[in-house]
Amino acid sequence: MFTPERLVLARKRRRMTLAELARRSGFSAQSITAFENHRKVPSKETLSSLAAALHYPLAFFEAPRPAELQLDAVSFRAPSKMTAMERDSALTSGTAAMSLNAWLEGLFKLPRPNLPTCPHLNPEEAAERVRAFWGVGEEPLPNTVHLLEANGVRVFSLPSDCLDIDAFSTIESGTPYVFLNTRKTGERGRFDAAHELGHLIMHCEHRIPHGRNSEGEANDFASAFLMPRAGILAQQLHGASVERILSAKRRWGVSAMALAYRLRKLGLLSEWRYNQAAKELARRGYRRSEPDSALSRESSQLLSKVFEALRGPLKMSPADVAAELTIFPEELNEYVFGLVPAAVQGGGEQGPPVRPELRLVTG
Ligand SMILES: [Zn+2]
Repeated sequence: MFTPERLVLARKRRRMTLAELARRSGFSAQSITAFENHRKVPSKETLSSLAAALHYPLAFFEAPRPAELQLDAVSFRAPSKMTAMERDSALTSGTAAMSLNAWLEGLFKLPRPNLPTCPHLNPEEAAERVRAFWGVGEEPLPNTVHLLEANGVRVFSLPSDCLDIDAFSTIESGTPYVFLNTRKTGERGRFDAAHELGHLIMHCEHRIPHGRNSEGEANDFASAFLMPRAGILAQQLHGASVERILSAKRRWGVSAMALAYRLRKLGLLSEWRYNQAAKELARRGYRRSEPDSALSRESSQLLSKVFEALRGPLKMSPADVAAELTIFPEELNEYVFGLVPAAVQGGGEQGPPVRPELRLVTG
């Protein structure tokens, strides 16, 4: 009735060392190690205290062993800045989202993976291949998350304590996953989604390499996927002014810097003009942000429809769904773009929170 791997999982998800969990739960680090290593089984009372310290329902530790995400199968953005603890926490959040997906697949017929394989194509060619395969032509993409979902990629949000990571992706049991940071601009969120798609298309056939090269390739893929050569060439952007770049970037749903970079890559801006434009854009605040952007962040259509169907025909509240997954509703919300009602206030660390009032945030 106790699954040691789940104790490890919960501790890593909460970014706690053994010493920290010992301090919070009142048990020794040696005892906790023994529980984690299958050498001892905690009593119900002990497990309740550990569960409270980790803020997980007791049932979480009694559920079957989950499929774990392997580090070498995952593409992380900005891995050099990441500590092992941050990385493990993000990996375990991926595990949680996969459990949710497995549960949903049991209830719904979800889109099957529909990704072309492009192992020997360069990023530019691979992006063209995917656009052709999905029949989206050379026009701006209205919504990259919806497009990925329609083609069988499961898209989840990174929890709020994992936002030191830009995004990550993996393929688990044939299902491609993308995890997105929800605190970035809409433009950068789209670029991240396209970047992860690049990894799935170009690097996932075996294992995802962690080299600098694969990051550059994924960026080039994203750039070409969001701003296809023929579509951009048709826009008369040769020698474009900063004002022209700012109007065109709205059309393509990309950051001004990303568009300027693409124009240089396509030979539409000279090195000198590109440098001038980049300098001026930086001066106006476009290096870190997109001032005056009206683009809202993309969210999951699939999850939104799923929760609608769960509430409606299946008569399941988000609390019921969370209970099925042996997590608290606020934790569930972290993985699904906040599409289920916000966490209930208070409740302390003991026991599951009261059933929250339904307040759906659409996005
Ligand atoms: Zn990457």
